[in-house]
Amino acid sequence: MSGGEDRLEELRGLVRDHDRRYYRDASPIISDREYDLIKREMEDLEAELDPLGLFKAEDSPDLIGFPVPAVGDDRLEEFVSHRHLVPMLSLDNTYDQKEFFDFDQRLRKLFDRSELPYVVEPKIDGVAVSITYEGGILKTAVTRGNGVEGDVITQNLMHVDSLPHDLTSFELPEILEIRGEIYMNHEEFVRLNELRERDGLPLYANPRNLAAGTVKLLDPKEAATRKLEIVLYGMGACIPESHFPSQSAFHEAIRKWSLPTVEFLRSASSANEAWQAILELDELRHGYGYPTDGAVIKLDPIEMQRQAGATAKAPRWAIAYKFESERQETVLEDIVLQVGRTGTVTPVACLRPVQLAGTTVSRASLHNADEIARKDIRVGDFVVVEKAGEIIPQVVEVVAAKRQTDSTPYLFPSSCPVCARGLEREDGEAAWRCPNPECPEQVKGRLKYFASRGCMDIDHLGEAVIEQLVDLGKAKRISDLYTLGKEDFLALDGFAEKSAENLFNSIASSKNKGLARLLCA
Ligand SMILES: [Zn+2]
Repeated sequence: MSGGEDRLEELRGLVRDHDRRYYRDASPIISDREYDLIKREMEDLEAELDPLGLFKAEDSPDLIGFPVPAVGDDRLEEFVSHRHLVPMLSLDNTYDQKEFFDFDQRLRKLFDRSELPYVVEPKIDGVAVSITYEGGILKTAVTRGNGVEGDVITQNLMHVDSLPHDLTSFELPEILEIRGEIYMNHEEFVRLNELRERDGLPLYANPRNLAAGTVKLLDPKEAATRKLEIVLYGMGACIPESHFPSQSAFHEAIRKWSLPTVEFLRSASSANEAWQAILELDELRHGYGYPTDGAVIKLDPIEMQRQAGATAKAPRWAIAYKFESERQETVLEDIVLQVGRTGTVTPVACLRPVQLAGTTVSRASLHNADEIARKDIRVGDFVVVEKAGEIIPQVVEVVAAKRQTDSTPYLFPSSCPVCARGLEREDGEAAWRCPNPECPEQVKGRLKYFASRGCMDIDHLGEAVIEQLVDLGKAKRISDLYTLGKEDFLALDGFAEKSAENLFNSIASSKNKGLARLLCA
């Protein structure tokens, strides 16, 4: 094989691997931007080496027996499949202004017109879904799947407050497939991750992954305990076909029928006007309840969309313009290990402080030892930091050109930085753990959780107090709290007669809060 063919095989393998992590496991390990770059390189190389598409990867099943689909594949065996009336194609996407205007130029040539009417909508970074209403009654909710058929998840969306089960209007089409995105707001994401941490389960990296995991729960009762949101913006099949003359008329109708839809929609009479709307959206989007990562530009008249048609992968009448997520370069000054209350050890990057999306960032998660090794992150490196999903800062990559010549690979410590016990890792697990239940850091974590508002809600027992109690050896486990006397608290920094008594009393009264609340520790 030539070097190009080797590279193509490698890229196809990477895309398959990341597709599986993203669509099936809902736990991607690279940013969307990195993924887009890999996929773009693969497609460019395919076009160069195999212009007629004779050796497309679709024909070669991968190791687990699934072909590489054009749009990824989220289907799981446990779910009933449903065929979309109109396929759910992914959109061509670009980070390049020129490619947006090239898109317009191709269409103008096709229609032989000097200007074309577009609509501009936000591109929402959620979990794609297709909702079908028949005679105004909600019949099915289906994932994108492989674009042709997806998994039926209706049962997991019945508790989404904003999704009406029936529509009332005299102007309903017989059958309507509506496309949208399911997402989870940040508060709910934090709440559910806290519960998972308490149960010693792996945490979800971001709200999108948690939403994707929730729609694929096998138990609808459990799905109902997690709050999902939905926003709708696209049309699949519509019977009769001529019901909506344009994308903007479709939007107007679903808004009138009280379906949850996007708050940003601009009609533009030319590509220049559309470009202005894209810039406007980039200013406004941070205030929306759902995460956005770009703009979608569609030809407005449905008849023109039909005439433009689609390639095997994507419609020709729409394009996604993706915004750069906010990134900065800075120095990684140190890597420290955090020990959680269940013993999980998480490496954290200490960064030279840098401004990112309006906040000062000085720490970023490095996830686990494998992640550090995969990206070859070393202390002293210049690194690119990104606020993924506008929430958690992440180290995207090392700036290799700026690496010191005497730098050495990072060696993940073999023992706990707090209690020096040897770290352990289960087969197949990414995280190392400190196995010592009396590890002071774990004890602090458990006590802080126990005293917190979500659990026993013990007044005056704040984090600083707990740190001191553990450091002075006065508390090694939760039950020790109830053996401490006023004189123990008087020995702590900042305590006097009155405050020691207050703390003693609130710990004592928490005993009466019942076994049920004790169990949550
Ligand atoms: Zn330890």
